[in-house]
Amino acid sequence: MKKFFVSFCLLGSMVAVKAQDLQTIITDAEVQRVVGTLASDEMEGRRTFTKGIEKAAAFIAAEFKSYGIQPLKGSNQYLQSFAMIRPKFISASGMLNESALDTKQIIAVTCSKDLQVTDKSGYEVAVIAKGANLFGEARKYSGLTKNTIVLVDTSFTNNFGRLAQLKGNMFYSDKSVVFILTPETAIKSITIDAKHDIQEMPLANVVGMIPGKTLPNEYVIFSGHYDHLGINTRNMVNNDSIYNGANDDAAGTTAMMLLAKYYAATKSNDRTLIFAAFTAEEVGGFGAQYFSKQFNPLDVKAMFNIEMIGSESKWGKNSAFITGYEKTDMGKLLQ
Ligand SMILES: [Zn+2]
Repeated sequence: MKKFFVSFCLLGSMVAVKAQDLQTIITDAEVQRVVGTLASDEMEGRRTFTKGIEKAAAFIAAEFKSYGIQPLKGSNQYLQSFAMIRPKFISASGMLNESALDTKQIIAVTCSKDLQVTDKSGYEVAVIAKGANLFGEARKYSGLTKNTIVLVDTSFTNNFGRLAQLKGNMFYSDKSVVFILTPETAIKSITIDAKHDIQEMPLANVVGMIPGKTLPNEYVIFSGHYDHLGINTRNMVNNDSIYNGANDDAAGTTAMMLLAKYYAATKSNDRTLIFAAFTAEEVGGFGAQYFSKQFNPLDVKAMFNIEMIGSESKWGKNSAFITGYEKTDMGKLLQ
């Protein structure tokens, strides 16, 4: 993605008569309190699937409540909960074109405990041929949008096992993909039986909204990710093992939260404003992916995802670095 540099005076670009409100609502002390809480040792680095990130989510939700913003339509709470699926391999066996397959030749990416596939199961068949980009090709199927058997050429024998990484964290799907390491490029007959222990790992974004006064069905979204890297005792700094993540991205999350506080107090928004703290960014952007599926993109007029604004831009004060400048006219509007 191409990156562009945009320079603008943030305070000056807001409606001038609101400057008073802005300075009394978004104060230095308030920014320090919020970012300081998110980045405190008590949050243990906010790593996905830990107690620390749950504390951070509870803090953000309590703040949203204190600002008086609402949960998303159709929900009675700020936590937008979902699960990642982690299949743990138990066993796999099968036959392809009348030859038995070794366990090491089968990798099933599935949310089924007991996956059974035959030539009557209606699976599509794909081939990853010698010379192809194995992981690039394989990733096309890992979204589990279609039941597919993928025949992987034996020139990939050394790397084939690494395709098991595709089932590290997944959204639930009733579709499955089976990779088979084989010199065969077509299927005359097949039976596959793969067993997994299916673990569900809970996650939550924290989301609130302020209904718009005149255009309530049009959305403007402010977001930041509230997860970070957690604790790492093998890579300590001055005997400190907690990765506090003040800049990445307690800073952006704080900006999003204080904008919520500001707009809740001023009630000046024509469009509906949505405020989202995303989980699981560092492990694959799963929170943002789940969140984005809850909207019709045509209803979303603009979205600001705020990332790492805790240190001064290398272009100096009152400047920002924008990703995706060329994709919309938002950068120009900001300028
Ligand atoms: Zn980040």
